[in-house]
Amino acid sequence: MDFKDYIRVIPDFPQAGISFKDITTLLKNGEVYRKAIEELKVLVSDLKIDVIAGPEARGFVVGAPLAYALGVGFAPIRKSGKLPYETIEVGYDLEYGKDRLAMHTDAIEKGQNVLIADDLLATGGTIATSVNLIRQLGGNVVGAAFMIELTDLNGRSKLDGIDVFTLMQYE
Ligand code: AMP
Repeated sequence: MDFKDYIRVIPDFPQAGISFKDITTLLKNGEVYRKAIEELKVLVSDLKIDVIAGPEARGFVVGAPLAYALGVGFAPIRKSGKLPYETIEVGYDLEYGKDRLAMHTDAIEKGQNVLIADDLLATGGTIATSVNLIRQLGGNVVGAAFMIELTDLNGRSKLDGIDVFTLMQYE
């Protein structure tokens, strides 16, 4: 199955020059969504994973079903001000805009092996920030899994040696 057949590419969204990869056209197809998660599960099958961490909102759509499929926990990474308990926060730049991400201080136990999951790797800013948060909590980042990688933006270079697993690549 070519998962790219189910991705809708929207030019100049949300601003001129961005080629937006819309995964909703994949998600609405139950069979394809399930196959995508199953394939990510196979890609990470050699890793020892205790918990998956995913940034809102599309990181939940990939990370939570993958955690369920693997039988491990899920730790949400959220925008600043959304989490109700004690948090740590880190600011970062996006392909478009700026933001701050937060995690609960007890989201990850020291020494746990963490896989990060998101829909798409662009500049890598979101994932580098996620790595920063997880490491501050004492977690050990064992890999990062995405449905899509935008290779020209070279997000991998921000992930200093962390193994990256992707279903689809676009230039
Ligand atoms: P980055 O921090 O640059 O790697 O951006 C990653 C996040 O921004 C991902 O979680 C995506 O949801 C979103 N994103 C960035 N660029 C795009 C794009 N061209 N198409 C769809 N989503 C994108």
